[in-house]
Order: sequence, then C-alpha cells, then structure tokens
Amino acid sequence: MTTGFRAIPPVNRILEEDAIVQLIEAHSRDAVLDLIRQNLDEIRVSVSNGAEPPDLPALVAEIEKRSNKRWRAWPERVINATGVILHTNLGRAPLSDDSIQAMQRAASGYSDLEMDLETGKRGSRQSHISQLMSQVTGAEAALVVNNNASAIMLGLAALAVGKEVIVSRGEAVEIGGGFRIPDVLRQSGATLVEVGTTNRTYARDFDAAITENTGAILSVHASNFKVMGFTSAPTLDELVEVGERRGVPVLHDLGSGCLLDTTPYGLAPEPMPQQSVSAGVELGFFSGDKLLGGPQAGIIIGKKDAVARASSHPLARAIRIDKMSMAALAATVLHYIRDEATSKIPIWRMISATEDELRKQAEAWADVAPNAVSTPSRSAIGGGSLPGETLPTWVTRIPSPQPGAAETMAQRLRSNTPPIVARIEDDAVILDPRTVLPTDESDVRNALKNLARQASK
Ligand SMILES: *Cc1c(COP(=O)(O)O)cnc(C)c1O
Repeated sequence: MTTGFRAIPPVNRILEEDAIVQLIEAHSRDAVLDLIRQNLDEIRVSVSNGAEPPDLPALVAEIEKRSNKRWRAWPERVINATGVILHTNLGRAPLSDDSIQAMQRAASGYSDLEMDLETGKRGSRQSHISQLMSQVTGAEAALVVNNNASAIMLGLAALAVGKEVIVSRGEAVEIGGGFRIPDVLRQSGATLVEVGTTNRTYARDFDAAITENTGAILSVHASNFKVMGFTSAPTLDELVEVGERRGVPVLHDLGSGCLLDTTPYGLAPEPMPQQSVSAGVELGFFSGDKLLGGPQAGIIIGKKDAVARASSHPLARAIRIDKMSMAALAATVLHYIRDEATSKIPIWRMISATEDELRKQAEAWADVAPNAVSTPSRSAIGGGSLPGETLPTWVTRIPSPQPGAAETMAQRLRSNTPPIVARIEDDAVILDPRTVLPTDESDVRNALKNLARQASK
C-alpha cells in the first residue's frame, strides 16, 4: 500500500521532463500544474484502491494527451461524410464563402453595426437585416434574434402574455433538446389550449375554442416527425380566415425557413416564409441555420405592428443576436436576392448535386479505399427538417475486413486529421460524397488511401 504511494512520481520531478517544459511554454505554468495535480489526485485514489501507479513516462504521456485535448483549437474542422446535410451534432449548416467573409469583417474590426454613417447618429442593428428579410419573404417587417426557439418565446410573450393560445393537439410537440411547445407557452406567460385530436384537427375546432381570453392561434410545423394515415389539419389560409373573422392573430412556427421550393428535388414541400406571409399570418418564426443555410438565428417576420411589439419587448434585448451571426445572415440572404442560392449556399449545393457527380465521386473514393465499391443509397436532410425525406445518392461502401470491425474503421476515420465522420450500415463503413465540401475532397481521398495501406499490412 505505502510503497504504491511512494512510487507516484513527485510534482518537481514531473516538471523537469522535457515534454512538460514544452507544455508550459505553449500554455502556462499554472494551467499545466493544475492538470498535473488533478492527474496525481486521480492516481492517489486508484492507488488507495489497490492499483499500481503509472511510471514517469506513462504519466507524462497522459498529461500531454489531456492537455492536447483540453487546449486544442476548438471546435475542430470535421468532414461530414454521413450524407446528413443538416447534421445537428456537426453544427448544422456550413456557411457560404461570402457569409464567412462577412463574419470575419464584422469580427476583425469596428463596423457600422449600430451607427448611421450619414448622420453619425445611433442606428439599429436590425434595420438593415430586417429590410433584406422583408424583401425575400414579402413581409411588412422582420426582426432577427438568437435562434428560432427564442423567436417563438418572444413572439408569444409580446402578443399573448396572460392569454390563451390555441394549438392543435397534434402540434403540441417536442422540437428537440427539451424544447416543448406546452413548456414554451408556459414560460412566455401564455396558457395552452389544445384543440382537436392527435391525428385530426379542423378549422372549426379553433373557431369553437376562441374566447375573450384568446391571445393567439399558434400553428407549429411538424418538422421532426410525420403523422400518416387518417389525418387532417387545417391549412394556414383556413386558420387565418378564422383568426381574421374572430380578431385573433395567427402565429406560425415554420421551423426551417425554407425560401426555395424543395419539390423540384423530389422532396416533400416544406412550408415557405413567403407562403406564410401571403396567407396573412401575424407573425412567422424560423431558423437561420436549417434550410435557409445561414448562421444560427431566429427570424421573426410579419405585420408591422406585431413585429414592433416584439422588438420593444424586454425579452428582445435578452435574446439579441450577435454581430457576427448578423453579418453572416445578411450575406446569406443576399444570395437569395441575387438568385444564386443553389450555387453559393453549401446546403443548397448539396441538395442540388446531381446523381452523376455523386456517382463519379463515390467511384473515385472506392478506387482507393480497401475492397470498396460504389453503390446507390439515400442522403437525408436532417436537422429536424423534412423527416423521412431522402435524396438519391451514390456512396462508397467499405465492407468490414472481419465481422464487427466496421466501427474500428469508422473510429480510424474519426481520428484522421481532419476527422472524417462516416456512417455504418450492415457492418460496412459508408461515405456519402453529397455532404463533403469540395475543399475537403482530397483529405477524404488521402484518408482512404491510408486506410487501404493499413488494411494491406
Ligand atoms: C428547429 C425548430 C425549432 C427550433 O429552432 P432553433 O433555431 O434550433 O432554436 C422550433 N420549431 C420548429 C418547428 C423547428 O423545426
């Protein structure tokens, strides 16, 4: 027992090691000392449980490993070969070159974010972006906040605090990450009134539920699930008809904020902000980093007075969007205004990639990867958009060399520099070229060559 403790290398001795001296130079003495002490504490615990302490080289190697992990440049660039376009775990939408430059411009110096350069007076960070958003959606006004979840909270708090909000029973859903419509309503100070049934709800159900306490009708897009079979839901036009007749504003959570028609790509139609506006909703809410293809943001569009009420609510300041996201969003919206979204916005380039291009790429990778083939498959939209909707693609399929070893291969690809995230199907590693950015193509090819070299050993 005591000999175990005595065998633990002392701090002074550890600090003399070359590798540790280099770590101290790269980071700081205090930071490295902290890490050493933490590690030694853990070792003492395991020694008191009867384990042997590590020798000095092993301990130094462990400290190096931990410091490399903890103080690396983060988040790391990762290559998404999963075929899931809006991969929430990998940061949703990658940005266009123009958006990245706009972000850099906003970040690297001062900007006219809140100043009118003509008058030299204070301006609003919202006026420019709001005008662009109105232009692409046809809305009277727009307001941009941190994300769609906060946009919905703000809209409800501004228009329906202390009042009842009518929601279809089939739409009182959980969006993800604990964001549940009933909870959001409660948090924003409104009361949920559910109408209809899980599968069938009619406009007349809303009509019948309206009382003098009704603050709004809320329509929530089922963006991450699908109800099939014997179903019915009122159209937005029908809801607006009820709302206008009864003097109740209709709010619409669109989810994705898809400004382009998805049907030419063989996908189901996705609600479009332009359609919400022409249907006459009071407010519409959508994300910036889903099918819009921009940065994280929550966009509120709608009638001038309603947007003004949201803008002047104290919550608006609490969920204010930052300047870098704002800059990236403005640049993304310009792609739509210039009619160049499918060529400039990465997720739309991915969605519109042709099977021919994808097959060529999958074949080229299959030529260098161990025992691989190219084969038809499906890519997903992901990110809580278009559930169950897929696009035909071609993938490179690398079969497991021995049963159950696909995960080992996938792990090897994840430890590549840069890491490559693939998917596993039927004990084979699958790489979908659709979600791999053109600039990442050669990194994938080199990693596959390495995999082949390791396999032939
Ligand atoms: C994704 C989504 C949200 C949340 O949007 P965030 O921008 O992630 O906050 C809300 N409602 C719907 C219908 C969604 O699909």
